[in-house]
Amino acid sequence: MTIEKRFSGTLDDILEVVLVCKKCGARMGYNPVNWKDVPAKCANCHGSVERMLPNSLEYGCLETFKGALQSAISALDSLPFEIRLEFPGTEK
Ligand SMILES: [Zn+2]
Repeated sequence: MTIEKRFSGTLDDILEVVLVCKKCGARMGYNPVNWKDVPAKCANCHGSVERMLPNSLEYGCLETFKGALQSAISALDSLPFEIRLEFPGTEK
């Protein structure tokens, strides 16, 4: 028998969506309910500006993710399903 650890939570368990700059490692955290704007660049090194033009596919992906997350959170009470996210229980 294999025992597998997992962490799970619902959308209203999310404390923050954290964007971590791949260039400098700076973290930008957003409360998913109050998240207003997707940053076009890293607040620390500004190194992502060439990859995140406002009309780019990458920027659109983050905007879509933010909108879908906020829509799902606002509909949690009326949805017929509980949305549960599961992650492996790692021991790193
Ligand atoms: Zn950065």
